[in-house]
Amino acid sequence: MKVGFIGLGNMGEPMARNLAAANIDIAGYDIVRACPEGVKSASSAVDAAANRDVVITMLPDGEAVKSVAVEILPAMKSGAILLDCSTVDIDSALEVYVSAKTANLRFVDAPVSGGVGGAVAGSLTFMAGGAEDDFKNLEPLFDIMGSKAVHCGEAGTGQIAKICNNMILGATMIVTCEAFALADRLGLSRERMFEVVSTSSGYSWSMNAYCPVPSVGPTSPADNGYRPGFAADLMLKDLRLAQIAAASASADTPVGRLANDIYESFVENEGGSGKDFSAIFLKFAEKL
Ligand code: NAD
Repeated sequence: MKVGFIGLGNMGEPMARNLAAANIDIAGYDIVRACPEGVKSASSAVDAAANRDVVITMLPDGEAVKSVAVEILPAMKSGAILLDCSTVDIDSALEVYVSAKTANLRFVDAPVSGGVGGAVAGSLTFMAGGAEDDFKNLEPLFDIMGSKAVHCGEAGTGQIAKICNNMILGATMIVTCEAFALADRLGLSRERMFEVVSTSSGYSWSMNAYCPVPSVGPTSPADNGYRPGFAADLMLKDLRLAQIAAASASADTPVGRLANDIYESFVENEGGSGKDFSAIFLKFAEKL
């Protein structure tokens, strides 16, 4: 299987590196970043996409995915699959799906969970939207780059799963942080707080796997000065996508909306930009 890879940033670079390490024939392109070892350097997005069975995009947002799709779809070989692993708004995913179908190409949206650590380790979770056959054909690639791939349904459903997951993540991270700050104020040690909650009904990924306070629980960005990890800016991006989707579906998501507002203020006015999303703890801890 010949693969093209467009967007070799924090996530795309290690994903492409892992494909090359598994002896996949892969050509890569990024407007800024160089190709990792083992990835043939293409001179343009079109060059990376031409004559490839699968073209993977890992780009910042829906606008970037749509503009790259406009460039590469005419150059892709008939029947090839465009696999977009970026996190984008559902409408952009559907727009690219329709363009791909019109060009006699296949499209699968498969955003990921697991962050840069998961991309480096090849342990990402893929949530895929598209035809069952295409999902099956992509499984060998998902197996190299990740440890789990879920076929969510038709095109666009991968993005739906992603924003719902991250809306839960943003909200649970905030409440985990405010609970730690409350426990501090009331005089419960952080170690005992972790010990109890991580084995009680308040447990969550935010508490158990990514504990937001330093020196407690497994090693996390809190132990590394809140260097990302998963940046607060990216959490805000995903919470905004969730709110756009909620508005379009007339869904009532009051906690998701509040999480969006809290991260927006943290990123834009309270020094959270560039920090890990678990640094939202500092917002509550500072009030002690
Ligand atoms: P990034 O900004 O590090 O990488 C994006 C890359 O795309 C950059 O290197 C940029 O130069 C390149 N690019 C932009 N426009 C281009 C174009 N027209 N042609 C070629 N290259 C182009 O971002 P990232 O952290 O790697 O995230 C990529 C996607 O994955 C985003 O949609 C993000 O929301 C999602 N995601 C990120 C994480 C994370 O922890 N970083 C986790 C899950 C999902």
